[in-house]
Amino acid sequence: MSRLVVVSNRVGIPDGKARAGGLEVAIRPAFKQRGGLWFGWSGKIADDEPGPAEHTVRDNVTYVTVDLKKDDYEEFYNGFANRVLWPILHYRLDLAEFTRRDLGGYLRVNQFFADNLEKILRPDDIVWVHDYHLMPLAKALRDRGHKNRIGFFIHIPFPPAEIATALPNHEQLIPALSYYNLVGFQTETDATNFARYLTTERGLRRLDADSFAFDESDVRVGVFPVGVETEPFQRLARRAVNSSFVREVMDSLSGRAMIIGVDRLDYSKGIPERMDAFERLLTNFPQWRSKVTYLQITPRSRADIQEYADIARQVGAKVGNINGAYGEASWTPVRYINKAHSRTALAGLYRSARAGLVTPLRDGMNLVAKEYIAAQDPEDPGVLILSRFAGAARECTAALLVNPYDSEGVAIAIDRALAMPLAERRQRHADNYKALLANDLGQWAERFLATLERPHRDAIQAPRPRRAAG
Ligand code: UDP
Repeated sequence: MSRLVVVSNRVGIPDGKARAGGLEVAIRPAFKQRGGLWFGWSGKIADDEPGPAEHTVRDNVTYVTVDLKKDDYEEFYNGFANRVLWPILHYRLDLAEFTRRDLGGYLRVNQFFADNLEKILRPDDIVWVHDYHLMPLAKALRDRGHKNRIGFFIHIPFPPAEIATALPNHEQLIPALSYYNLVGFQTETDATNFARYLTTERGLRRLDADSFAFDESDVRVGVFPVGVETEPFQRLARRAVNSSFVREVMDSLSGRAMIIGVDRLDYSKGIPERMDAFERLLTNFPQWRSKVTYLQITPRSRADIQEYADIARQVGAKVGNINGAYGEASWTPVRYINKAHSRTALAGLYRSARAGLVTPLRDGMNLVAKEYIAAQDPEDPGVLILSRFAGAARECTAALLVNPYDSEGVAIAIDRALAMPLAERRQRHADNYKALLANDLGQWAERFLATLERPHRDAIQAPRPRRAAG
């Protein structure tokens, strides 16, 4: 069996203390079987030229990390990845801030990754690259003569060609994905959008349902929705409700129902729109005033990017207005918290909440939605209110699906969730839980790797060196 080489922007080396990240948990079974190597950025910024890659071995896996220079970090990570690709791939052309300098940094770091990988790749390694930071990496490796099977999974959405083509230099960046043998997406919609880009923008010929003829090899497109560890999460939540932390939170509500939202502070998550919806609930359904408390846990992220500072101010103002207008000395309608919480604390809070509000404007998957379902007590479950624009909505069809832009509609859904009879809650939860089990995180990595290893029509050949994509 081939050795597995995983490449991602950030690499977290397990230290036995902090909990493993989601990607690490997902890939662990594959590493166990095959052994392997994980390559990426250490998270450190070098003062001048970065030193050689560092190798650390933990449980059968070698972690190889490199530092980035300050300019690289600014242009590649803060610049092109998070100020251009992130907004555009989330359909937010209005927020993209393109500069050629940042694009240069993005391409440079991808070349730097390829130079480092070149030193460690073996001919029969199977390579799995993750996310939008590394779209051109396969091409950079092919240019260096690597014929390995290389797969790519994008954790965030892929928009329709009409939006993708607004990405400056899309002609260079998006077709470069065709140098991967397999490009994986969270949903059918994302995969279809990409396939349509390949055929309409690049004129690639479709060979069968999921393959396209490209250069001297083919590129396959697949759908691999990320899941959660359903049953372990359910057990964790069952234990966590008895923790002193969760008890204290619930006692502080004085018997009021709790609604929960958990999101990184990001404009894709629809938090201001959600605040508007909660305000609508209090206006249009006054019977819930003083009866329900909305807990919104929102750790800050990417704080040095302007749009993130803007959204922080906007949400803070809305929360203040709602609490000022509707609050009472004995009741604060919205509890808004920027502190990150542990997985255990979240599991207990999810299980204690009558409704989970997950209303992103656009989201690749949204694991909070799945965790909320996994955490519920099947005998007395809470109700998930879920944006139709989250990848999770494709599987969790028994949630109350909403349009996050329609604050009145979301308010009606919250009212319905809070008033929903037990039998309906149980049925919806059972259906959603079944959907989670059918696509548990435990099988995700192997499904992707098995598809990547499935032979294509032709043997894979490296394209001619230094030819532009497409
Ligand atoms: N999360 C956490 N602590 C927090 C907030 C979030 O551990 O205080 C976790 C949450 O449980 C989930 C992940 O962060 O597993 C967020 O994933 P999601 O797909 O919902 O959104 P992303 O942040 O990746 O866009």
